[in-house]
Amino acid sequence: MNADLHCHSTVSDGQFAPAEVARRAHAGGVTLWALTDHDELGGQREARSAAEELGMGNLSGVEISVTWASRTVHIVGLGIDPTNAAALIDGLVRTRNGRVARAEAIGKELAKLGIPDAYEGALKFVSNPDMISRTHFARFMVECEHCEFTQDVFNRYLGDDKPACIGHRWAKLADAVGWIQKAGGEAIVAHPGRYAYTPLEFDALFAEFIYLGGKAIEVVTGSHTLDQYREYADVARRFGFEASRGSDFHAPGEGRVDLGTLPPLPSDLKPVWERWL
Ligand code: AMP
Ligand code: MN
Ligand code: MN
Ligand code: MN
Repeated sequence: MNADLHCHSTVSDGQFAPAEVARRAHAGGVTLWALTDHDELGGQREARSAAEELGMGNLSGVEISVTWASRTVHIVGLGIDPTNAAALIDGLVRTRNGRVARAEAIGKELAKLGIPDAYEGALKFVSNPDMISRTHFARFMVECEHCEFTQDVFNRYLGDDKPACIGHRWAKLADAVGWIQKAGGEAIVAHPGRYAYTPLEFDALFAEFIYLGGKAIEVVTGSHTLDQYREYADVARRFGFEASRGSDFHAPGEGRVDLGTLPPLPSDLKPVWERWL
């Protein structure tokens, strides 16, 4: 089983259309695949039919932006039933609201830092106007040679706590988990190694997530370092979480790994996808 249960298309901040992402996953050896666009289900139908054509397993997916203890956490929802997702769809619309105003504010911040017209520049990379994200700004800043790689843009300007990252109030954890559960899916804490919480805050986050019915975290993800695979495997053991695996692929040359190329989960962990097999 080569499960890749986290990646993005042009429906959010990925570079390829859903069917192209499906073909790339299949070519990379993926046998169970989920497209998890940020705050948006608009690519799921195309993803499903492309996966069916390729004979590749597919789970419906989404990655929801959440604010918890003043920081952004991403919650992946897998195995949702798109025909039973009214509450989820409504919640995602409300979560997306405010992205445009935030993007304008990011543009103003970058102008103060000597980078003019970044909002207009970022828009050129956006396919879904509702879903303008920091990634689109990063691509613009590489294009106009302010930075060599998109990762440099996050390290210098746009990462959490960096000078041009505008704070934003996303969905509440309880709401995001509830919308996923109402649509028949499982909620998974995405790339926990990305969050700058203290150990106490992490324990509180995981305790609240479990209280809400959450059962799984990502362990092996393109958004973790090798050390973090081990660290979050230990977290999964300590909290009794099932584990997920996904590249978080957006575009070639962005991020560490391509679709299907991650190492397997540690063999003692229970894969979250077993419930759907
Ligand atoms: P947004 O939804 O606008 O806050 O943008 C979030 C997206 O920006 C993430 O899904 C990643 O694609 C990217 N991103 C955020 N932080 C980082 C980071 N530190 N390094 C690389 N990419 C990041
Ligand atoms: Mn992204
Ligand atoms: Mn994420
Ligand atoms: Mn992602």
